[in-house]
Amino acid sequence: MTVQRDKRGESRDLEINPIFSREPVRVPRYALPDQGMEPDTAYQVVHDELMLDGNARQNLATFVSTWAEPQARRLMAECAEKNMIDKDEYPQTAELENRCVHMLARLWHAEDARHATGCSTTGSSEAAMLGGLALKRRWQHKRRAEGRPADRPNLVMGINVQICWEKFADYFEVEPRYVPMEGDRYHLTPDKAVELCDENTIGVVAVLGSTFDGSYEPVSGIAAALDDLESRTGLDIPVHVDGASGGMIAPFLDPDLTWDFRLPRVASINTSGHKYGLVMPGVGWALWRDRDALPDDLVFHVNYLGGDMPTFALNFSRPGAQVVAQYYNFLRLGFDGYRRVQRTCRDVATRLAAEIAGLGPFELITDGGELPVFAFRMRDGIDTFSVFDVSAALRERGWLVPAYTFPEHRTDLAALRVVVRNGFSHDLADLLLEDLRRALPRLREQHGPHRDADDAGGFAHGAETKNPRRPGRH
Ligand SMILES: *Cc1c(COP(=O)(O)O)cnc(C)c1O
Repeated sequence: MTVQRDKRGESRDLEINPIFSREPVRVPRYALPDQGMEPDTAYQVVHDELMLDGNARQNLATFVSTWAEPQARRLMAECAEKNMIDKDEYPQTAELENRCVHMLARLWHAEDARHATGCSTTGSSEAAMLGGLALKRRWQHKRRAEGRPADRPNLVMGINVQICWEKFADYFEVEPRYVPMEGDRYHLTPDKAVELCDENTIGVVAVLGSTFDGSYEPVSGIAAALDDLESRTGLDIPVHVDGASGGMIAPFLDPDLTWDFRLPRVASINTSGHKYGLVMPGVGWALWRDRDALPDDLVFHVNYLGGDMPTFALNFSRPGAQVVAQYYNFLRLGFDGYRRVQRTCRDVATRLAAEIAGLGPFELITDGGELPVFAFRMRDGIDTFSVFDVSAALRERGWLVPAYTFPEHRTDLAALRVVVRNGFSHDLADLLLEDLRRALPRLREQHGPHRDADDAGGFAHGAETKNPRRPGRH
């Protein structure tokens, strides 16, 4: 964080008088004020600064919920003081968490949902750390039992994985093995995954779906290729499915797609409750197919204020409100309601994608038919403006549509991406389309692109490049 300074190099204080016709107040911006102020004054100051954040509903970069029913918000406010870790003091909040885990286990076809193991987290990132740790620990146990070295674990995944997997590998000292993109292949494929596996592979991460373009990775194909690897070599490598988004899309819209615990090789799955689980940030879920998939020595038994409490988490204290809101959504919508919401998202995404393809200068990379997310690029031969110019033009009207370059081997490819979420209606999609249409004549008249990747700003939500030498967000 850098402190903003004025031209004379002094950090500027906040002057409140006389805007709010209150007592004159002068408060430092970057130091704790000596004295406090009236709550209304403080509220107004904070409230006004936050106006500059823009309008979350127009943020088409994020996968995270920006709309919730008033009743969900009310429940969250009612639960504001509840700490998720205090399972002894708030046993009913803990019970609701437990029910959510069971509902997800059934939704994802766990063999024995009553004995499913899982937990809520702050999001998919924490869930990914837990999933990865379980894979690592299981592999270590197996290796040690065989009397073989367990010090060089690796994890196989596509280069398109969300940044949380890069973090997992780095923080927990696992060698990340990324399958690069190649030609028109923008995610992991079975043969490429297997090529990178060896006796030190703790698991393969399959993403449902990719943050780069919304496409589903072929989980069942990856599982089948690993079955084949096992029959040839004896290597038994589990799969973790990163279903941050797709874990709450596929069960409702693609019931015949086999990606979940129906595949015996799938050991664990994560999802973000705050993405297509439709809860405000931050809640995620991590589930294991059975107790064997989650080594018991990772679970701490805390004796806390008189109760024995099993916990597998990176955090200790964390809000309970989001878990309550998740349970509210499950009750409120049911299977059918979720299907309706997700169906609408997919309809809006596919229609908007088709309309954008019809404008002329753009070519779709994906069409919104898997995740309700699509990516598009400039058609060959359009060279007066770039995707970065398009992103900037839309921003003038408040829309956040990220433009970003693809990773290694396809860094030549720059794309825009739209994430359709609950609340982004056909009507709002039309307004976006109109704004895009209106911007095109001006963009066409440019003599060349005004902006490139360096001007893009960092808001691609996981679709940022993994090579730290490249400019961007690091
Ligand atoms: C969003 C996302 C994550 C990270 O999830 P958070 O809930 O934001 O922590 C991980 N993986 C994928 C595929 C995602 O889309």
